[in-house]
Amino acid sequence: MENYQQFMLHARRAVSILRDLAQLSVYDMAADGLALKTAKKYAKLADVFFGSTDSPRLQRESVVLAEERGLSMERLQMIDGHAQKLKKQRGAAWKLRVELIAHEGTFEEVNAYGNQRVEELVRQKPKEKGARVSRPKNGMVTMSITDTQRRITDFEKTLDAIDTTEQPRSKALLEAFWKHIDGGGGVLKPEYRTVIAIGLDQSATIIRGEGDESIIGASDGTTMTGAEIVDLAVAGALGDKIYAGLFHPTAGPVNLYEARFASAKQRILAMAENLVCPWPGCKVPADRCQVHHLDAHKHGGQTNPSNLTTLCSYHNGVNDDGEVQGKNFTKPKRGRMIRHRGEIKLVTPGGRFLGNTHNLSSMGAMDLIK
Ligand SMILES: [Zn+2]
Repeated sequence: MENYQQFMLHARRAVSILRDLAQLSVYDMAADGLALKTAKKYAKLADVFFGSTDSPRLQRESVVLAEERGLSMERLQMIDGHAQKLKKQRGAAWKLRVELIAHEGTFEEVNAYGNQRVEELVRQKPKEKGARVSRPKNGMVTMSITDTQRRITDFEKTLDAIDTTEQPRSKALLEAFWKHIDGGGGVLKPEYRTVIAIGLDQSATIIRGEGDESIIGASDGTTMTGAEIVDLAVAGALGDKIYAGLFHPTAGPVNLYEARFASAKQRILAMAENLVCPWPGCKVPADRCQVHHLDAHKHGGQTNPSNLTTLCSYHNGVNDDGEVQGKNFTKPKRGRMIRHRGEIKLVTPGGRFLGNTHNLSSMGAMDLIK
């Protein structure tokens, strides 16, 4: 582990290294063994933090803060990448650098936050609709289609409905695509299931479940059934095809009401909670996920809403269900999903809690009631 610690110690000294690099020529760095491409990237970064600028005060502040926080070269590059997108707005780039340098979190969390801030600060022009075909290379050609999210998602669901067995996703989609064309085309009209999220007060206690019903205790000493709370919240104003999910700020999902198929109830509730697979970095939408027991069923985990989440089939497979130390069985540890303060997080083998920073992930029910 000593080498790893040395490596991390150096990684955290990026600011001091950049200070030296600002004095060097990229060709000298290349002669010392760096790829010229890398030397140029570092030189550019050194120039940002130590070259001349129209915001010397913010530049100084950034350097001090980044050095204090021991940020890595990679992280500074990522932060600068976000800031460069604001070059046209005077002063905005340096303000964003300071903000992102100060932002707590992993590389990925800060990167996601940076994307979000840049989007807020420059209203990005949406991509043009169209279909593009690449030049052939070794007999293969790539075709890509850009259209509204609604249209492409409906089409993707149409392809998903065509059975292409257990192939990797991109192969399965392609096979379904050709089957679909041969079968005469058409796009499925998706059926929408709307779930409205109703947040319980933190002081409410989930007393018990009785059959299909949850009993909630209020802080004035009375109890209500979940159905009564939902009735009060929606007060008959909504149509009968809408589901209401009850969520508690720390316990998580409680129950779902107005469900027509009781067996599918918990699945819909789990989907409304996250919208995408909650494993950090995963983009698989909840529609294609499997229901996963946080405390494994075989170890006594209950099938109640707060013990359930949705995971894509891949992450459902790599999740560590707590039986790694078997004889001759060395499954690499990837961590496991848990509910932490009401929310679904990955606990890494090193004991860190990570959420998914996907933009859809932050629009799930538990974020809406915060
Ligand atoms: Zn996943």
